[in-house]
Amino acid sequence: MSTTEREPLRLMAVHAHPDDEASKGAAATAKYAADGVEVLVVTCTGGERGDILNPSFTLPEGHEFETLEGRLAVRRLEMARSAEALGVRHAWLGFVDSGLPEGDPLPPLPEGCFGLVPLEEASEPLVKLVREFRPHVITTYDPSGGYPHPDHIKCHDVSAEAFAAAGDPERYPGTGEPWEPLKLYYNHGFSMDRLRAAHEAMTAAGLESPFGDWIESRDAREIPERQVTTLIPAAEYFAHRDEALRAHASQIDPQGFFFAVPRDLEADVWPWEEYELAESRVPLPERAPGEHEDDLFTGVREALAHQGDGRAPAGVPA
Ligand SMILES: [Zn+2]
Repeated sequence: MSTTEREPLRLMAVHAHPDDEASKGAAATAKYAADGVEVLVVTCTGGERGDILNPSFTLPEGHEFETLEGRLAVRRLEMARSAEALGVRHAWLGFVDSGLPEGDPLPPLPEGCFGLVPLEEASEPLVKLVREFRPHVITTYDPSGGYPHPDHIKCHDVSAEAFAAAGDPERYPGTGEPWEPLKLYYNHGFSMDRLRAAHEAMTAAGLESPFGDWIESRDAREIPERQVTTLIPAAEYFAHRDEALRAHASQIDPQGFFFAVPRDLEADVWPWEEYELAESRVPLPERAPGEHEDDLFTGVREALAHQGDGRAPAGVPA
């Protein structure tokens, strides 16, 4: 970071459930926090409709997992440990987990859940938080949610709405001074490039890769790949990510999928976390085809450095 900047950079990472911050962009948030960027992870719901997904999970003393309240308490505990592992601040929006509807036909969503809250009502607490925290960059999921959980889709919707509306003094009155964030990104969890790199490296090392079937089924379904514009080198912070994953002990099996790739091999073949730039309000340098950004604040650092010299772009108070 250049010393000519007048204020710290701020990054807001918006997620649907506690544990999503540990599996999507975790190492990048830890890296930025360690670099002195103010990082706020925002979790839309309490994750209280998650089942226990880790066979070796033992309930913390004095807790239960039978009621929504009991689950909420456990997941709050886990979330606090994850935020600590990443070195980030954390805020809840306070909505209720919609659960992942399963069956054919799909059952209706439970009454009062995040997925059913009308867009403006669901976005208001996030707009308020954006106006308080004043992030330069916001990360969220792509419009499909990244995977078809109603809370992930809604997470996209409220983030896009907050990005669009927080700077507009006419919108969301009574939620603070307008603030216009400068860049919006979508998280990419598992691009085909990343899956293939891990799969090939594991196979070459004589290890059993868990990705073969997944790659085949994705190839077969011809799911269009979303564009990855940005690769953040973050291998140095993969251990922070892993600690955050393990903090979500009710959800993440330490012997399971997220730990399938040996860490030295992962750092070797895929030392990045991936993002897709969705919107920028600052000018960006031209990129050659196939070239990636390596910093979420590209263009933002430059814009802030110009603050006060009469060339502040829109959104940056001069
Ligand atoms: Zn989730």
